[in-house]
Amino acid sequence: MAQPKYRIATIGSHSALQVFKGAHDEGFETIAVCKKGSERPYKMFNAADEIISINSYKDFPKIQNQLIKKNAIVIPHGSFVTYMGYEEVEKLKVNYFGNKKILKWESDRNLERQWLVNSGLKVPLLFKSPKDIDRLAIVKFMGAEGGRGYFLAKDEKDFNKKIKPYKLRKYVLQEYIIGVPLFIHYFYSSLTNEIEIMGMDIRYESNVDSLGRITARDQILLPKLDPSYVIVGNIPVVVRESFLPRLIEMGEAVVKQSQKLAPPGLFGPFCLETILTPEEEIYVFEISARIVAGTNPYIEGSPYTALKYNVPMSTGRRIALEIKNAIKTNQLKKVLC
Ligand code: ATP
Repeated sequence: MAQPKYRIATIGSHSALQVFKGAHDEGFETIAVCKKGSERPYKMFNAADEIISINSYKDFPKIQNQLIKKNAIVIPHGSFVTYMGYEEVEKLKVNYFGNKKILKWESDRNLERQWLVNSGLKVPLLFKSPKDIDRLAIVKFMGAEGGRGYFLAKDEKDFNKKIKPYKLRKYVLQEYIIGVPLFIHYFYSSLTNEIEIMGMDIRYESNVDSLGRITARDQILLPKLDPSYVIVGNIPVVVRESFLPRLIEMGEAVVKQSQKLAPPGLFGPFCLETILTPEEEIYVFEISARIVAGTNPYIEGSPYTALKYNVPMSTGRRIALEIKNAIKTNQLKKVLC
């Protein structure tokens, strides 16, 4: 029987331009599902062969049948999961690249931590209560808002003072690790059982990354000045080569553990969010079980993908290639869970 003509679809946001470019490079047509008013980039960059406009991202399930009729394969990205919520994503009937069952494990900070710890990775300490803070702590609010309002506290007294404007919000208290935050982009193929490092980035966050532009003398004059972690963009980085063996093992460990937690486990793109200390310890503070926006500087491929592929291989294109290989070898079901 002839294969239907599959199309690649996603929500127009986050890393959609990269996903669509990669899909085109591998010969797929694309469908952008855009919130009304956000269609322009997908037209301007010839990214979408078709645009479906919706009033709110929450309306995505309502247009599912249209996507099913067009043999669409939906690619999840950060905004996709954040805007819809993992419970809604789990209910989707349309073809979906990846394992939906793993989303719960990355969306809940406690489950996520369990996953990382059981993978043998080093994670920052968690303080149960403000009175336990015995070193510099970062106070993170639940429900990611890109680090808005996060603050540092050195002890209980400092915490009580700084939490005042956020009294009603839920938070976690995590040990603040001083080092270089490094975001590592992986791809695990469930067709070949191989892991790849696709690239790495450093985030540029406002205002924490600009505090060093004024001297401590001037900072002291601004008593209300607290660092915040609102992401502005991503900067490519190549890590010291001697770190690579450990980073590869770390990626393999989370995949192996995920196979126990939510069979068939994590596959496709994912990211470990880490901090590398001067003692060369690698702390993991978060995992993203899908394509991350830090891959966007590598639409033409990264130094790592240049080593492995003879064509410019972005993470978006790698997803399309995996789908193409699955179709070719009659294993499409294996990558749509
Ligand atoms: P997102 O979901 O977009 O990744 P988020 O709101 O869940 O963001 P985190 O990624 O947990 O927030 O943290 C935001 C930023 O805070 C990080 O990019 C990093 O710069 C800093 N950060 C987080 N945890 C720590 C830590 N334990 N030690 C030092 N810095 C940290």
